[in-house]
Amino acid sequence: MTKNIGLQAAMPKSECDDELCPFHGSLSVRGKLVQGKVVSAKAPRMVVIQQEFPRIVKKYKRYARSQSKIHAHTPPCIGVKEGDVVLTAECRPISKSVSFVVVEVVS
Ligand SMILES: [Zn+2]
Repeated sequence: MTKNIGLQAAMPKSECDDELCPFHGSLSVRGKLVQGKVVSAKAPRMVVIQQEFPRIVKKYKRYARSQSKIHAHTPPCIGVKEGDVVLTAECRPISKSVSFVVVEVVS
């Protein structure tokens, strides 16, 4: 059964039996939402997401483009491929570097 996770993200069409799925498992999401591009989907059920944001440079009073990468868990019911733009939500730490989970494929 698909659970309401409290976000305005689209529900996945298929079901999965991943315990760490916010829709079908027991993982709850809270905190930040991060949208970014998937730059690597090589690891099983984990993707690397790159986000770009403006960073102010005080000396020149201008913005510089800055980017950072985060690791996010991907349940199998959300088919994520490399190059997709995805929405991730913060969750409890799943491993040393993973504390986000993919909730929607934006494009
Ligand atoms: Zn699922």
